[in-house]
Amino acid sequence: MATFEIINTGTELLLGRTLNTHHQWLARQLCDLALTPLRQSAVADTGVAIQEAVREALTRADLIVVTGGLGPTSDDLTRDKIAELLGQPLRLNAAVLAKISQFYVSRNRPMPETTKVQAMVPEGARVVMNQHGTAPGLAMRVQPNPHRASGAPSWLVLLPGPPRELRPMFTSQVRPWLREEFPANGTHVSRTLRTTGLGESQIEESLAAQLTTLTSRGLEVGYCAQMGQVELRFSAQGATAAALVTEAEALARRELGPAIFGEGDDTLEAVIIHRLTERRQTVALAESCTGGMISHRLTNVPGASAVFLGGMVTYSNAAKVELLGVDPATLASEGAVSEAVAKQMAEGARRRLKSDYAISVTGIAGPSGGTPNKPVGTVFIGLATAQTVTAVRHFNPVDRETFKWMTSQQALDRLRHALIG
Ligand code: AMP
Ligand code: MG
Repeated sequence: MATFEIINTGTELLLGRTLNTHHQWLARQLCDLALTPLRQSAVADTGVAIQEAVREALTRADLIVVTGGLGPTSDDLTRDKIAELLGQPLRLNAAVLAKISQFYVSRNRPMPETTKVQAMVPEGARVVMNQHGTAPGLAMRVQPNPHRASGAPSWLVLLPGPPRELRPMFTSQVRPWLREEFPANGTHVSRTLRTTGLGESQIEESLAAQLTTLTSRGLEVGYCAQMGQVELRFSAQGATAAALVTEAEALARRELGPAIFGEGDDTLEAVIIHRLTERRQTVALAESCTGGMISHRLTNVPGASAVFLGGMVTYSNAAKVELLGVDPATLASEGAVSEAVAKQMAEGARRRLKSDYAISVTGIAGPSGGTPNKPVGTVFIGLATAQTVTAVRHFNPVDRETFKWMTSQQALDRLRHALIG
């Protein structure tokens, strides 16, 4: 199998001022292409550090992806230093220059002289146009490769630093090309199932015994606990790989049933939007302790406007009364964090926005505000449908941020169950 290395340039990454997200994102993408990772490194914005890292990677890897440092400022050295290392002169590329000037014209801004440096392309390099910024990506085949004992060629791919430029560039242009350049030999099969509502040990417990015959035949199983969900990964190599993974998936679906909400990169919110769209139904929200997070998550999904009518962030009692029609007497007798109020909130949102479904959340995120009966972490999640209004109690005794996420996950999952039930 072909091998790869990732080199992330950027002093800010070493200083801990910027989270190195390319490191994870690219590794995931390249592994999905069945390439084998050898090493990942982050280096400072200096010529010495960049050249040293690239030279070393050239001794080992079939593919080296270098990120960052393609911009116009004085600390953007990647293109120059790699061209120098390879002994390739830089030439002004007219097509790239035209694309950069067009970028400025379309934004009605004057083009700074310094940006022209981004149109300098090492001789023989392939240009990957940037649809979301000015610095193009570059790909160079190092052949012969004097750094490698075998003399085997290596590909060097240079990508821009900003994630919103790098990701679409990789997905739409680099990935299809890599797939051709490094075809998978078809013997590696991997499948990821996403679950929610069950802990990872619970999942392992219900599967482990039955999986042993498959693991003895070469199936690899991975459990990855994330906030409010667990990922289950099956993979295998060789001629029987597909059969093993298929069998494992069938077993998991049988045992875990509706706890599995999706596959691969599916999110709970996307699954819900798609299902509502299929059913031509709508949802409204009444959020208290999640502060709009559920609305935020639903509106991250393209196409949400067809099914998501709106959400109200009713944080205070007054807002719950004014916007949702919650009864002040219920608030006084039961408290804002109660089954009765959660139900009235869901009912109120559904009635006011005339949706098929409404979800509500009301809880105590903490650190203060808890009582013996309702300790910090208590939350009620209401669901109103045309037939019924119900509320369930959950307990998420975690920090505020995690509390909000987990609650949003549980609320979305309640709706998902209503939609599949
Ligand atoms: P550059 O290509 O070096 O001009 O990078 C531009 C911006 O992209 C930087 O200021 C960072 O905000 C961001 N960036 C660069 N490298 C990374 C990385 N590895 N992970 C996340 N963000 C990055
Ligand atoms: Mg930089």
